[in-house]
Amino acid sequence: MSDKEVPPPPVLPPPFKINEYFCLFHKGDIQGETYTCPACKTKYCLECAKKAKVEGKLCVKCKQMILV
Ligand SMILES: [Zn+2]
Ligand SMILES: [Zn+2]
Repeated sequence: MSDKEVPPPPVLPPPFKINEYFCLFHKGDIQGETYTCPACKTKYCLECAKKAKVEGKLCVKCKQMILV
């Protein structure tokens, strides 16, 4: 019986880098000041959040009211 080499551990893919500074309202990088949803901590541009509030829109992720 010959000793078998231990197979190398499976190579895990590199952790997916989530851009947390991605505004889901205008679908792009957050510009200027940031608004953070108090419920789910999703970040938006402050300007988009203000606009969303005026338009009666909710947090894209958790449907929390925008509290600017
Ligand atoms: Zn939210
Ligand atoms: Zn935005």
